[in-house]
Amino acid sequence: MLSHVDVLIIGGGPAGAALALALQESDRTVMVLEAQDDFPRPADPRALALSYGAKILLQRLGVWDSIEGATPIETIHISQRGGFGRALLTAAESGVDALGYVVNYSALSTALHQALRQANPLYLTGAVVSSVKSTPGFGVAEFEHGGRQLEVTASLLVLADGGRSLAQVSGVERHVVDYDQTAVICHVTAERPRRHVAFERFTSFGPMALLPSGAGYDLVWTARPDEAEALLQLDDSAFLAKLHERFGDRLGAFTSAGKRASFPLSLKYARPVTAQRMALIGNAAQAMHPVAGQGFNLGLRDAWELGEEILNTPHAEIGGPAMLQHYREGRRRDTGGSILFTDLLVRLFSNDYAGVGLGRGLGLAALDLLPAAKRLVARKMIFGAKG
Ligand SMILES: Cc1cc2nc3c(=O)[nH]c(=O)nc-3n(C[C@H](O)[C@H](O)[C@H](O)COP(=O)(O)OP(=O)(O)OC[C@H]3O[C@@H](n4cnc5c(N)ncnc54)[C@H](O)[C@@H]3O)c2cc1C
Repeated sequence: MLSHVDVLIIGGGPAGAALALALQESDRTVMVLEAQDDFPRPADPRALALSYGAKILLQRLGVWDSIEGATPIETIHISQRGGFGRALLTAAESGVDALGYVVNYSALSTALHQALRQANPLYLTGAVVSSVKSTPGFGVAEFEHGGRQLEVTASLLVLADGGRSLAQVSGVERHVVDYDQTAVICHVTAERPRRHVAFERFTSFGPMALLPSGAGYDLVWTARPDEAEALLQLDDSAFLAKLHERFGDRLGAFTSAGKRASFPLSLKYARPVTAQRMALIGNAAQAMHPVAGQGFNLGLRDAWELGEEILNTPHAEIGGPAMLQHYREGRRRDTGGSILFTDLLVRLFSNDYAGVGLGRGLGLAALDLLPAAKRLVARKMIFGAKG
């Protein structure tokens, strides 16, 4: 095994794997350490709404066609419960085939994993990194693999661990905003499904999304933690009846529910997203509320832009202060804009304050009447704040 590489990626989840694939045809030596054992991994029920822009990047990485079961979103229907005003965003108005696609997290991870297995002999699974540190000249990671304690140095360490395990990085501050909300997710079917239409419904309890997935929908139901716990305990018929009551009658009654899972929701972000010989991408840099379906879309753009930065930097300068500064500044607008937009949606659309409901309704109605505004919103959702 090499003891020094150009780029060491810690975490082979969607963001880390995407970066490794972006570098696959270069002369940079890239190692990926992923804690989980080889595939198949335990199924993750999460549905991800990927933007049209994310599809283009995944095509360039050569994995799009291997992702099983992607369902196109041709229309997004936005409404608020108990208030007037609704907006429709359509792919046709935005001049694209689809505004986005719904894919399962496990299907995405599997496609990336298989591509990486073929492309990179330095992709190690079952490799758990326990510490990272750096000197001005290189970064060092200690990890456990196959019962052995190992160490590797790199010109650049990329933290793509989802922000869970390597929280402490010298010089990087972690910020957390707790929304006091939990997402209950599961696959449901409905009496009158509407093909390729995604629904974003804002309620005073929190936003709810129904994303088209095959013949049914992947539900993301945001609720207070105690309500979410109660939703998890209901039997299927009581759960479906409650969903019908909360969502309304647009799709008729809900007819079946898959296994339910829950995720606590908060906004977590690191500042700055670089440190000496280190860069953070994906959820390690920012983990957001799923209301706007921005998380991985943004993480993929982190990976893509860091990949470009590494390719455009002379070999001897990889991971140096100038490269890291350029990456950090290049990402500022996209990440800052996405975090702000998502946080604003959660705050504006999760309450019952007098006047706010009226303002929301007027906002939705105005958006629906203004084609230019709709195109702008769709463009930002597809390509990010810089789009
Ligand atoms: C309910 C829900 C709905 C969502 N919906 C959407 C959506 O519609 N659209 C969207 O774009 N995003 C969505 N997201 C966000 C999306 O899931 C994340 O942005 C995405 O998974 C981040 O990918 P990542 O690779 O950065 O992190 P992760 O997916 O967390 O992957 C991190 C990887 O690092 C590995 N790892 C961790 N620690 C170590 C270690 N010490 N050593 C080695 N490896 C390690 C882990 O095993 C894992 O494989 C949603 C999230 C939730 C919770």
